[in-house]
Parts: sequence; structure tokens; C-alpha cells
Amino acid sequence: MDLMEKLTILADSAKYDAACTSSGTDRPGNTVAAGCCHSFSADGRCVSLLKVLMTNHCIYDCKYCVNRASNDCRRTAFTPEELAELTIEFYRRNYIEGLFLSSGVIRSPDYTMEQMIGTLHLLRYRHNFWGYIHAKTIPGASPELVRRLGLLADRMSINVELPSEQSLSQLAPHKKRQAIFSPMQQICLEEKQSRRELAVYRKAERFAPAGQATQMIIGASPETDYQIINLAAAMYGKYALKRVFYSAYIPAVEDSLLPALDAKPPLLREHRLYQADWLIRQYGFGAEELLSPDTPNFNLYLDPKCNWAINHMHEFPVDVNQAALEVLLRVPGIGPTSARRIITARRNGRLGLTELKRIGVVLKRAQYFIKASDWLPGARLERQTTIRALIDPKVYSFGMEQLSLFSDNPGSRPLPTARDVKSITEAVEETVLCLASSL
Ligand code: SF4
Repeated sequence: MDLMEKLTILADSAKYDAACTSSGTDRPGNTVAAGCCHSFSADGRCVSLLKVLMTNHCIYDCKYCVNRASNDCRRTAFTPEELAELTIEFYRRNYIEGLFLSSGVIRSPDYTMEQMIGTLHLLRYRHNFWGYIHAKTIPGASPELVRRLGLLADRMSINVELPSEQSLSQLAPHKKRQAIFSPMQQICLEEKQSRRELAVYRKAERFAPAGQATQMIIGASPETDYQIINLAAAMYGKYALKRVFYSAYIPAVEDSLLPALDAKPPLLREHRLYQADWLIRQYGFGAEELLSPDTPNFNLYLDPKCNWAINHMHEFPVDVNQAALEVLLRVPGIGPTSARRIITARRNGRLGLTELKRIGVVLKRAQYFIKASDWLPGARLERQTTIRALIDPKVYSFGMEQLSLFSDNPGSRPLPTARDVKSITEAVEETVLCLASSL
């Protein structure tokens, strides 16, 4: 098989891995195209990467994976020399700035890791390639090999795959929770140690300077959003992860334990999880504040911050001229940048709506939750009006045909029929009434 054919197969096989900022697509987590993805390097630059597998042979049989041993597909593998050569050639031609390398498990986890280490070693020391490399750790590989890989890669990741041990044992019976979390712990400790050493000695060895990430598949197993974000928050705290990537399960294989082949990927749910993840990392929300065992899933019509605000109306309106930074951050329409600008600007005088708009506050949402020098929302906020105004217009762009009404590019979709328009209106009305009555 020639190199081009191998590349086509192995880039296509890698597209289901969403543990990068984009997966060669027009949307994070989408897998319509293959070969290229983006990531953020240790210094914050967005870099484009060649995204490929070392091999799509696999001795494991994870039920949700197209590369599983029992799936009948074309198989191939790169040698370390071939992949190193290919990467450096793409790099020299300026097509890519780095490499995202994952792999099926060939022979054993240790053998697979040795092949990956061989490739990175050639790239670093034969071809003098010092661009960005994101490498996947193979669950079950020995700690020594994890360390060697970490000294060659910028970012490492090991996929959690499924949010609970039970689902893991059902759908990926060869993978053990321990084999995933032990290397995660090791990477976290080695990375901290490396940072400490670099602080005293500039030439100390660098271990995965861009940190580690992981990926969870959403919708292949029955876990709730509450379980998923709690697990993500725990991993951020315990293993200092840089990112958790959520990947809507795209049915690719038929199995009685998985959603049907014609089931739609839960893209809107994935989007809500990314929003909640952002609130946890950037806004200081706790996972338990966003959901609870009684309401274990996100409202698909409202983004998690608006949903939280609607459920905590007693904490509003917030006086923008007095509130602390962490209180401002909880107001829909106020982000970290605008919250900091508000704190700075109000030293020079009281702020009204005009100043807030200039600062970057999204008044369309914030107006229901703030008090300003020239603005006071109604003494009793009218819930139906507030909810109606806050319904996220993006819900229509996640797989619902009706969305063509609100699309940025309506010409690309068929015009909605009178029946579509009626069903959208009815759905929105129904949601507003249902939300209002449940609050
Ligand atoms: S280990 Fe599982 S998820 Fe990874 S390539 Fe093999 S079958 Fe797929």
C-alpha cells in the first residue's frame, strides 16, 4: 500500500477522536472531514496539526469504535520512519505546524507506545522538528514509556472515553479505569515536577509543557449531564487537566448496547456541556451549582448560565456599580472581560446602560438581571418574558430542519414551509410555558 493510501485511511480513522480544539471541521467535535485539526500550544498560539493514527489495527474491541477488532474495515500502519518523513514534509511545505498522534493498539500497549515514541524521536532528533506535538497515551502502557512520550510531546492526553466504570466495562471491556487514571496521575505529577525543575534550571527536561487533556463520549451510554460535569470538574481539580473534550457519539457501528445507527448525534447536548465546562473553568461555577440529582440534565433551550440565573432570580438584580467581580460573573451577558472592565470603569463614575454597552456587556440578556445608574428592571420580573427573551437561538441550528428560519445563511437550506413555521412557534411557546410553570 502506498503512503498516500495509508494517509487517507489513517487520517480518516483519526477523525473520531475529538480531543483537540477542532477536529478538521467547521465545529468542535464534528467529524465530517479528516486530516487536520487545531490546538493551543503552551504559549497560547492556535496551531494547525496533522491528525493521524499510527495504525488502525487494534487488538481491543470497544463497541463504539470504528477501529475495533471485530469491525471489517481496511487496516494499515505507518512505520515510525514513514510517519516522521510525512510530517516533516508537510511541515516544510507549511501545510501544518504540528502533529496530533493517536493509535489503535497493535500487539500490546507497550509495543504501540514504542512505535509512537520512535516516530517522535525521529522527528525531534533526526529531523530537528521542534513544532507542536500532541500525543495520545495508550491505556495500560508502562510508566517508563509514558515518561518517554511526555519528554517528546508538548501535550499528552488519555481518553476517559465513557463517564462511568459500568459503561466502560460494558462498551470497552478491555479498558480498565485504573489503566486510564494511573497515567493521568503520573502525567500530572511529572508535569508539576518538570515545572519546578525548569524554575531553577533553564535546561531541565520539559515534560508535556502544554499539559494534558482528555475526551469523553456523550450519548453512547446512559450517564446524565450531572454525572458528566461532576467527573470533569473532579478531573480538573485532581489531575490539573487543561481541557476535557466532549464528543457527541456518532453511530458508526451496530450494537444492541449503543444508540441505533440512524440516531442523531446529540450535538446540542455536547454544546451545552462545553458551555457548562467553560462556566466551571472561567466563571467560578461549581458543577453542583449548575445541576443536581433532581435536575440531572441541561435545559436544551437555555444556555447553562441563563438557566442558572432563571433558577436563582432571588439573587438579582445585581447592582453593577457595587457588585464584586464574582457576582458580576454570574450575570448572563457579562463575561470575564466585561466584568473586569466594569470594575475598572466604575472607579471614574457610576455606570449606566450606555457605558455598559460600550464596555461590551450584552444588554439583550443582562438587562433582566442588573441595576445601573439609569436602569432598574421591573420590581417583579415577568418570568415568561424573561425566558422567552433568553431562549438560545442556537438551539435551532443543532440538527433541526426548522433552523433554516434563523440560519446565517438561509440560502443554503430549503425554505421553511408554513407547517415548519407553525411547529417552531408551537415548540417555543410550549417550552416557555413549561419552563415558566416549573420555576
Ligand atoms: S482501543 Fe478501543 S477506542 Fe482505541 S482504537 Fe482500539 S477499539 Fe478503538
